[in-house]
Amino acid sequence: MRIVILGGGFGGVAAARHLERALRRHTGVEITLVSRENFFVLTPLLFEACSGRLELRHCAQPIRAAFQRARFIEATVESVDVDRQVVRAAAPEGHAYSFPYDHVVVALGASTNEGLIPGSSNALTFKTMADALVLRNHLIECFERADAATDAAHRRRCLTVVVIGGGLVGTELVGELTAFADDVLRFYPRIRRDELCFRLFEAGPRILPEIDAKLAATAARVLERRGIGIQASTPVRSIEAGRVRLEDDAVDAATIVLTAGIVPSAVAAAIPVIRDQRGRIAVDGTMRSRSHAQLWALGDCAAIPGPDGRPYPALAQHAIREARHLARNIRAVIDGRVPSVFMFRSHGTMASLGHTRAVARVFGVRLTGFPAWWLRRTYYLFQMPRWDRRLRIVLDWTIALFFRPDITRVDLRVEREQVSW
Ligand SMILES: Cc1cc2nc3c(=O)[nH]c(=O)nc-3n(C[C@H](O)[C@H](O)[C@H](O)COP(=O)(O)OP(=O)(O)OC[C@H]3O[C@@H](n4cnc5c(N)ncnc54)[C@H](O)[C@@H]3O)c2cc1C
Repeated sequence: MRIVILGGGFGGVAAARHLERALRRHTGVEITLVSRENFFVLTPLLFEACSGRLELRHCAQPIRAAFQRARFIEATVESVDVDRQVVRAAAPEGHAYSFPYDHVVVALGASTNEGLIPGSSNALTFKTMADALVLRNHLIECFERADAATDAAHRRRCLTVVVIGGGLVGTELVGELTAFADDVLRFYPRIRRDELCFRLFEAGPRILPEIDAKLAATAARVLERRGIGIQASTPVRSIEAGRVRLEDDAVDAATIVLTAGIVPSAVAAAIPVIRDQRGRIAVDGTMRSRSHAQLWALGDCAAIPGPDGRPYPALAQHAIREARHLARNIRAVIDGRVPSVFMFRSHGTMASLGHTRAVARVFGVRLTGFPAWWLRRTYYLFQMPRWDRRLRIVLDWTIALFFRPDITRVDLRVEREQVSW
C-alpha cells in the first residue's frame, strides 16, 4: 500500500506525521512526501523573519527532521495522473520521478492571486521565505537610495511603501514593516520618520475580515496612530513599475507588495478532478475528492465543506486539524471502515501589528495590545515542532531586545571576477 503526500507545508507535513502514528502497526504501508523545498515554513513567523527580528532560517524546519518513518523526496510535482494513479515530479538537472499510489493526499497550498489586478507582476509578493528575503533586501536598498537621493520626488518614492490587500497577511505585514523602519532609521540620520509613507489599500469595506469588526477597528486605530494611511473600499485598478493606480488617483512607491488573496497552486488546479469555482479541489466532508475516491485534499488548495456548507477558511490552524482527521480517515478506509466528516470550530484568530502590539480573539475573549502580542508569539513558538528551533527563536527575540538591528543586505547574485593571468 503506497500513500503519496504532495506538498510540505502545514497540511502535508502534519498529514505525514499523523499517518506515521495512525499506521504504526500497518507494516506494509509506505508513506512518501514530495515537496519542492526540503523545509517547512511557519508562515506566521515570516513577518519577523522579514524585519530581521528572527534569523530567516529559524522560521523554517527541515522536513526530514520531522519524520520517523515517512520518506521525503525533494522534487517539484508536475502532474497527477488520476486514471493510472501516478504522480510525476521533477528535480533540477533533468531528474524525473514517478510515484504510483493507492492514496494520494494533495496539500500543495496556494499562491498569491496575480490574476485580479492588471500589472500584478510589478508587485512583490509575501508568501515564502524567498519573498521575505527579497522584500527585506529591497527595503534596505530603498533606504540606501533615499539617503543618497538629491531629487525630492525620487527620495519620496523610495520612502513610500504600499501594501495591497488588508486581510490578515497584508495588515500584519504593514504593521511589522513600520516596526522594521523605526528600528533601522537610526542608521539613516538624514531620513526623518515623517518622510516615511505607508499606505494600505483594501477593496472590501474594512481591514481584517478574518477578525470581528470591533478588533479590526482597534487594529486600524493602532496602525493609523503609527502613521499608516489605511483606505478601505479602495480597489486598486492597476499596478505599474513603481506606481499604483486607483479609481481617481495614483501613488508612486518604490515598494509595492501584493497580498490581495490567493489562488490554489497551479499543479493542484490542473489535476483533472472536480473543482469549485475558485479552482480548489472539491472534496466531501471526509476530504475525499468528489470524483476520484483515491485522491484526498486539504489546506489552501481544497474546498472542504464546513457545517454551514461554506468551505473552511485558508488558514494554518485549519490545515493542521484537517491533516489529523484526514490521516484517521485514510486509516479507516485501509481498515475497511467508513471515513468520518471533518468538523472544526476555530478557537480564535490573532493578528500581530508589530511594535509588540496585536489583536486577538481567543475562546470568545478579546485581547489587544501587549497581552495579545505575547499570546500570539508564544502560541506560534510552540507550533514549531522541535525544541532546538524553539530555543533558536527565543534567542533571536532576546538578542533583538538588546542589540541594534542588522541592515546587512544579502546580495544573492553570484558575480565572478574575470581574472586574466
Ligand atoms: C505570511 C503569512 C502569514 C500567515 N499567518 C497565518 C496565521 O497567523 N494563522 C493562520 O492560521 N494562517 C496563517 N497563514 C496561512 C497559512 O500559512 C496557510 O493557510 C497554510 O500554510 C496552508 O497550508 P497548506 O499545507 O495548504 O499550504 P502550504 O503551507 O502553503 O504548503 C504548500 C506546500 O506545497 C509546496 N508546493 C507547492 N507547489 C508544489 C509543487 N508543484 N511541487 C512540490 N511542492 C509544491 C510548497 O512549497 C509548500 O511547501 C499565513 C500565510 C502567510 C503567507
